[in-house]
Amino acid sequence: MEGVILQSKILKVGEGVIHNIAETLLTEKIAGEILYVSDDVVDKLYGNLVKKQIKEVGKLVEEFVTQNTIAYALMIAEKVIETDICCIVGVGGGKVLDVCKYAAYITKRPFLSVPTTVANDGLVSPIAVLKRQDGKPKSLGCCMASMVLIDTEVICAGPSQLIKAGIGDTISNYMALLDWDLACMRGKDKMNGYAYLMSKNSLDMLMNTQCNSLTPAFVEDLINSLVLSGIAMDFAGSSRPVSGSEHLFSHALDYYCKTGNLHGIQTALGTVAMLKIIKKDQTEVMNYLNRFKVEINPQKLSIDADTFVYCMQNAPQMRINRYTFLNEVDLSRDTLVEVYNELVREF
Ligand SMILES: [Zn+2]
Repeated sequence: MEGVILQSKILKVGEGVIHNIAETLLTEKIAGEILYVSDDVVDKLYGNLVKKQIKEVGKLVEEFVTQNTIAYALMIAEKVIETDICCIVGVGGGKVLDVCKYAAYITKRPFLSVPTTVANDGLVSPIAVLKRQDGKPKSLGCCMASMVLIDTEVICAGPSQLIKAGIGDTISNYMALLDWDLACMRGKDKMNGYAYLMSKNSLDMLMNTQCNSLTPAFVEDLINSLVLSGIAMDFAGSSRPVSGSEHLFSHALDYYCKTGNLHGIQTALGTVAMLKIIKKDQTEVMNYLNRFKVEINPQKLSIDADTFVYCMQNAPQMRINRYTFLNEVDLSRDTLVEVYNELVREF
């Protein structure tokens, strides 16, 4: 992944930056055929605004994402290579952006990313999550977008639950860093001090926000935190700085139980559950989640005690090489049911 950091040059976060698309493309001297990628819902909301700007600098080619499979992303890559498309502009949520991210990486074309949600730290990460043929998600290493415009007004206009999921995914750095420390202490992984610091800063920035509700100012803090988490992954060359036992638990939920909860909500639940399992004080994290009304009561998330126990016990298998506290703690049914009941009572 050498040179990845150097490729990521433009990042603008703030009110109204969705209007800076033409200006950004011009600054980067991008002209000719430009591929606009979005989905039906987002296109109805922001399509005209974006396409008008693309037409100011080049020739518009359109693509509407219907699925987020590896095969589909490769099909888009093929379309880019076969024609004279010189840049990809992706507007939308995780599905659209992950397809674009991977297609841009394969074709070595610049990618302008315009996220319309901030539900997870994949926002600017060098990892694309795409589905395999059997429907299971796979994390693929690629490049960070070379240009990113995140409009806080656009994010605030979206569902608040997606913003809460973004909070949850950042809070999970708390547990991920404890797991990373442990793995290094046991000689099961290597430390990258820069990536560690970046992930810790991402967490601290969010924890120390002066805001108490989901205001535009708070969303800006959250975006900055998510971007720092993405950079942490880029530095480490893996998701290690932001993904530990709490993520393994979330992957197990995705794999074994189809409750359809958002990734960031599941990792927040995983974080508090793991802190309880390793008997570490979880008040700070719990107070923070309550402050922004991030719901992690497993019962309210349609996760029953059996599912909770099964997914926690099977979480280590989700990624055999990722050593975490799950490899050392007591995962007996009794202990886990007790933790489950506490979570139901306390939230
Ligand atoms: Zn995550």
